[in-house]
Amino acid sequence: MEIICPKEKCTGCSACMNVCPKGAISMIEHEPLGHIYPVIDNTKCIDCHLCEKTCPVNSPVSLQKPLDAYAAISRDYDDLMSSSSGGAASVFSHVIVEHGGVVYGCVQQNYKNIRHERIERKEELYKLKGSKYVQSNIGYVYSDVKRDLKNGKLVLFTGTPCQIAGLRSYLKKEYENLYTIDLVCHGVPSQKLLREEVNYMLGTDTTEAYVHFRRKGKPLARMFGLFLSNCSKVDKKKELFLYNDYITAFMDGLIFRKNCYSCPYAQGSRCSDITVSDYWGIGKTTVKTDCGISLILQNTAKATSLIEMSRQYLHIEKRTVEEAIAGNGQLIAAFEEPAYRTSFIEDYQAIGRRAFKKHLKSYKKNWIRCHLKKRSLFSKMRSLIRKIPFNYNIYKTLKNK
Ligand SMILES: Cc1cc2nc3c(=O)[nH]c(=O)nc-3n(C[C@H](O)[C@H](O)[C@H](O)COP(=O)(O)OP(=O)(O)OC[C@H]3O[C@@H](n4cnc5c(N)ncnc54)[C@H](O)[C@@H]3O)c2cc1C
Ligand code: SF4
Ligand code: SF4
Ligand code: SF4
Repeated sequence: MEIICPKEKCTGCSACMNVCPKGAISMIEHEPLGHIYPVIDNTKCIDCHLCEKTCPVNSPVSLQKPLDAYAAISRDYDDLMSSSSGGAASVFSHVIVEHGGVVYGCVQQNYKNIRHERIERKEELYKLKGSKYVQSNIGYVYSDVKRDLKNGKLVLFTGTPCQIAGLRSYLKKEYENLYTIDLVCHGVPSQKLLREEVNYMLGTDTTEAYVHFRRKGKPLARMFGLFLSNCSKVDKKKELFLYNDYITAFMDGLIFRKNCYSCPYAQGSRCSDITVSDYWGIGKTTVKTDCGISLILQNTAKATSLIEMSRQYLHIEKRTVEEAIAGNGQLIAAFEEPAYRTSFIEDYQAIGRRAFKKHLKSYKKNWIRCHLKKRSLFSKMRSLIRKIPFNYNIYKTLKNK
């Protein structure tokens, strides 16, 4: 067996590795950007083609149109503040463990080792919290999920849509005791790039530091950046978006896997029971916070029970599916590949991380220009002027009186 699916379409979901009866497949980092792809050891392969048949690129999973949309935040203030968005994923995980189930999701051993793990104790649920803006290593967790399902355990699996598709393809059939939650996702950088960035920030290579990608609090309600923490050797360090190359390149969409730019899951129809994301573009709402609101899309009838069980922990409000989709670009189309990505990759091979400075310059300039414009004196004056007809009407009425 040589090729499981075309490389430019491979999501790195690891379903092939999990299904291989001979353990002949390993997920290996590929140069130059370090994204992982399956590599077959032909001395072990028996040409059974199971990997090829299981791959969701070759046999796509079914997608469902959302039945309902909700805006929600966790009622627990600490939970809300320690979640990237409104804390919906965290509440669902809590409810599953409370009902004796297990949760599979992305945890961080340290900044070099971000992977999917099985959590069954309430005290360990904090490990799942927060978006890790990098591709999580699936390892062999799909086989662990199958074992739990067969043993009758209640299971919640959370991940990017391509990971949900990978799991469903691997399982081959529906399980009543399985809930899946996907995140709206615009793409993933590799762990290699993250490792290099953090090593650069620390000036050393260690296994003791942790990295976080979003913070809530002062001076801004919500911030993107790389925030490092460590108990012993290194002081807390942070670099905010626009100062940090990794997170800026992530926001610019420069360093995603090649297949992310044609992601089949970036659309209104979804591959999981529930989709969660940031609620962008929400209209008038009673869900009040400046610390992030979760969007919850209910995609299957089965998800009703999980949403009902979670209501007591959420401040939740029904919205329309149309509003939810219109506000989030990745519920409409895949992220567009920046025109300069190919030349960035060439430069990255030649001069390493200095290529970021060169290629992010115009993105940073445009971003700053765009945001300064929004906050400029001119735009404030304009919004004041817009109010004038109303004032003028009052003036006219008063004058007539
Ligand atoms: C790579 C990536 C890209 C994203 N892109 C967008 C976007 O374009 N638009 C948008 O609205 N939202 C996006 N999100 C989702 C958003 O950042 C929040 O994760 C989501 O709103 C859930 O937040 P929460 O407060 O409910 O839960 P949180 O507690 O913040 O989220 C934790 C949950 O996310 C899972 N998770 C965290 N990191 C990863 C990872 N690397 N891979 C797989 N699962 C992970 C965990 O298993 C856990 O269940 C993205 C998330 C990731 C990881
Ligand atoms: S063909 Fe069969 S044995 Fe060979 S890599 Fe694929 S799953 Fe493994
Ligand atoms: S199963 Fe997943 S990792 Fe394997 S080839 Fe297909 S897309 Fe790539
Ligand atoms: S953009 Fe699509 S393919 Fe890329 S990580 Fe996200 S879900 Fe997977």
